[in-house]
Amino acid sequence: MPLDDYKKKRDFTTSPEPEGTVVERRDRPRYFCVQKHLASHLHYDLRLEHDGVLLSWAVPKGPSLDPKTRRLAMHVEDHPVAYGDFEGVIPEGYGAGIVMLWDQGTWTPESPDVDAALKKGDLKFTLDGYKLKGSWVLVRTSGRFAGARSGSGDRSWLLIKHRDEWSGDLDITEFAPLSVKSEGGFEDILAADEPAIWHTHRPAKGGDTGALFAEIIDKAARLKAARSAPGATAAAPVSRAAKAAQGSKKKSAPSRKRR
Ligand code: MN
Repeated sequence: MPLDDYKKKRDFTTSPEPEGTVVERRDRPRYFCVQKHLASHLHYDLRLEHDGVLLSWAVPKGPSLDPKTRRLAMHVEDHPVAYGDFEGVIPEGYGAGIVMLWDQGTWTPESPDVDAALKKGDLKFTLDGYKLKGSWVLVRTSGRFAGARSGSGDRSWLLIKHRDEWSGDLDITEFAPLSVKSEGGFEDILAADEPAIWHTHRPAKGGDTGALFAEIIDKAARLKAARSAPGATAAAPVSRAAKAAQGSKKKSAPSRKRR
C-alpha cells in the first residue's frame, strides 16, 4: 500500500510530522519541495509529487547548479503530500532533528510517462521553485557510483543539473541557506519549539553534526532568551550563552525623577 513504509517508520504520537493520506491530483501543477533536514547527518530531501504521494530522495550534499557536479540521491520511502510544507522539530525517533522547508514550487516531467521513466531509472524534469529552476535529471546508478554505500542496491541515484540558463557555479546551498516558509535558519525553527528537550535527546552528539547541533541549540537558546521580556522569570535560561544574552539586555536602573 502507498505510504506503508512512511507510516511504519514513524510514531505519530511523538512526531509532529503529518500522518497523511494519498491525495489524488486534480487539474493542478505537480508540487515539489526540498527539505533541509538536520538529523544524524545534514541532508536535503527532494520530493516530487506523483500519483498522490511525494516521491523522495535524500541528497546528502544537496543539489548543485553545476552540471559537472553529480550529487548522490538515495531513493527513500514515499511521503504524503501533506508532508510537502512541513517544517519543525522531530523530537525523537525516526528522522529526529530539525526539518526546514528549503525550497518549494512545481515540477514538470520532461517525458509524459513518469512511471516508465522511474522504471528505466532516468527521470528528466523541470523545476520551478524559489531556488531551483530549469532542467534536471535523476539517474539510477545501481550502486555503481563511488559515493554510494555498499548494499544500497538500486536505491542509489544521481541528481544532475542540465546545462541551461539556471545552471552555473553558484553554490546554492551556501548562497540561499534559509527557509522559504519561515525565512529563518534551523535555530529559528528550534527557537519556535522547546529547545530544553535537546539537552537530553540530541540526535547527534559527536563529529561535525554534533558540533552543528550544539551551535544551533545555543543560537536558539539565545533567540528565546532575547524574546523573553526583562523581568519575566517563567523561562529559565538554558545555557551560559542564554544567560549572557539576557545579561546584556538588562537595562540600567531607571533614572529617578529629578526634584
Ligand atoms: Mn530526511
